[in-house]
Amino acid sequence: MSTLYQASESGFYGEYGGAFIPEMLYPNIEQLKSQYLNIIQSDDFQQEFIQLLKHYVGRPTPLYNATRLSAEYGSTIFLKREDLCHTGAHKINNAIGQVLLAEKLGKTRIIAETGAGQHGVATATACALRGLPCIIYMGAKDIDRQRPNVSRMQMLGAEIVSVESGSKTLKDATNEAIRDWINNPVDTHYIIGSVVGPHPYPEMVTLLQAIISKEIQEQAKKKPTHIIACVGGGSNAIGAFYHYLDDEEVQLIGVEAAGHGIDTSMTAATLALGTPGVLHASMTRVMQTIDGQVIEPHSISAGLDYPGIGPLHAHLSDTGRVLYHSVTDQEAMKAAHQLSRLEGIIPALESAHALAYLNNMDHNSGQTIIINLSGRGDKDLATLTNGISDETE
Ligand SMILES: *Cc1c(COP(=O)(O)O)cnc(C)c1O
Repeated sequence: MSTLYQASESGFYGEYGGAFIPEMLYPNIEQLKSQYLNIIQSDDFQQEFIQLLKHYVGRPTPLYNATRLSAEYGSTIFLKREDLCHTGAHKINNAIGQVLLAEKLGKTRIIAETGAGQHGVATATACALRGLPCIIYMGAKDIDRQRPNVSRMQMLGAEIVSVESGSKTLKDATNEAIRDWINNPVDTHYIIGSVVGPHPYPEMVTLLQAIISKEIQEQAKKKPTHIIACVGGGSNAIGAFYHYLDDEEVQLIGVEAAGHGIDTSMTAATLALGTPGVLHASMTRVMQTIDGQVIEPHSISAGLDYPGIGPLHAHLSDTGRVLYHSVTDQEAMKAAHQLSRLEGIIPALESAHALAYLNNMDHNSGQTIIINLSGRGDKDLATLTNGISDETE
């Protein structure tokens, strides 16, 4: 485990984190807090988790030497192929880990919320695998614009609850999921899909995704000079960084979605523009107005279209251990087309943000750069082939 960047007893990383929850949630969070570490670190859990990651998810994912991409830039570039995970992205690592944890806690029912549907699909998959009932809360507006993922979840046997309140999107779905959890504290586990939310979720999801950097350490013949990952909530990035956090020789770079640009109102670059505030029950950096209204974010990629960020990233940004930059919709689109033609790999638009950062670096032959390719681009084909549209999510 990282010795420098663990959450404190109360779940803080520096000034960020914690659990700013309604009193009615205390019992659920307390139970999770008091048991998650013991369970996750037990031999029993680890054995089962590793077995499923190996035989079901398809881990370890390759660390692929992208020679044509490397030649283009004049450095050595490797891709960590999370796109090859079952269901096409890293999110399944967390979903399977949390479903196993729920079983050990004696839970018999799983709930989650989803915006773009990627986390919903991963959760529905893990629940089908273990025969657990799965209820996914999703805004009515998101159900309309994310039909393929809705069909996937239904195919997998999940029940989708359409949320008609508020703006009918992710934050309204989150409210409904929390309401469900308060009403069903004994039998239900709530799966959050990134390193966000109240303690212990950020730390728990970090530990489950840390498998990515553990594998990188085993696979890399030479220590990388740089590791680059896209950041929405920050789970694939922290997974790729985690086992290198204490090794200052490795430059860690998180790439946010600038949308149309950080000097426009159409952006999702939280660390570039956000200020401290509480979002989803955690103190973090938030895109908000002076009086604390959350600003509607924009990114061409649904997975990065989030006005907050995991509290550990906010802390890593303040300490300077990780450098955070942003790239625009257009730069990400270009990078997705470039990788497709150079390597025969169509990346998710989220992952394309990490790839696009290659254009903002000085390259030399002494560098070994690892890019975490968080997911595959099949879900984004319409956007990728239609040019840039403002209809995201
Ligand atoms: C959801 C998603 C992301 C963003 O989430 P993080 O928690 O920041 O990793 C990135 N890439 C893909 C492919 C995703 O599905």
